[in-house]
Amino acid sequence: MSAEIVVSGAVKVFGTGAAAVAALQDITATVPEGQFLCLLGPSGCGKSTLLNAIAGFTPLTDGRITLGGRTVAAPGPDRGMVFQEYALFPWMSVEDNVRFGLDIKNVPRAEATVTVDRIVATLGLTDFRKRYPKDLSGGMRQRVAIARILALDPPVMLMDEPFGALDALTRRTLQDELLRIWAELGKTIVFVTHSIEEAIYLADRILVMTYRPGRIKRDVRVEIPRPRDTASSDFNTIKRELAALVMEEQQRFTNAELHAPAVD
Ligand code: ADP
Ligand code: MG
Repeated sequence: MSAEIVVSGAVKVFGTGAAAVAALQDITATVPEGQFLCLLGPSGCGKSTLLNAIAGFTPLTDGRITLGGRTVAAPGPDRGMVFQEYALFPWMSVEDNVRFGLDIKNVPRAEATVTVDRIVATLGLTDFRKRYPKDLSGGMRQRVAIARILALDPPVMLMDEPFGALDALTRRTLQDELLRIWAELGKTIVFVTHSIEEAIYLADRILVMTYRPGRIKRDVRVEIPRPRDTASSDFNTIKRELAALVMEEQQRFTNAELHAPAVD
């Protein structure tokens, strides 16, 4: 199956009447198989809504999304999702969390063990495999969340600010590991972030979104060879360009918040 994602005229309106919120308006984009795409924009511009629509969690109001030519109507094993909050089972050890999806798929025990061993090693979790989520740092928990998805080997990984809660050093380490895994396994990745630097560090391509309703403001290719030097002039040229675009949308967000009726 090809893992190309095609978004055609995607519209999402939450609620009806006076309370209606237009979250996405006419989003059209093709994400080729193997591309590392970032969705960038300030809070409220519809990044999560678009990602959730690709995941099949959120039905569109209008338009269509296909994956490998098939319309996305529900979540499926061809798409793995990683959230900002570590969606782990607290009562399961690290290795059981990683194994869980394989059990659901009825993968034979011995085969599942081989996969779990390999993925646990890939994510640097070997020494932690018997531990429980509560005994892990944020960075380690997020490694487990990524390991759980990789165990299922979906062609598409959807990531919603997965490193947003981590300190800068841990974040960079996990970014580097994600890039290594992506290069090795050839996944198609759609990665949501509001960090300009994170988007430039990771992506082949960045879609800058507008504040409500979310549209594509700019489609930017990042052609700097990896590993990318965040201090290089190429990096900073793109950074300045993106900062100006994001700032405009941030301003619209601030204005909307200032003029929003008070909520209790
Ligand atoms: P982002 O991830 O870029 O911060 P979201 O996709 O979460 O943005 O939200 C886009 C807009 O849609 C926001 O104005 C948000 O308040 C609204 N929204 C998101 N989910 C819902 C929902 N379930 N019901 C109503 N409004 C929603
Ligand atoms: Mg979001």
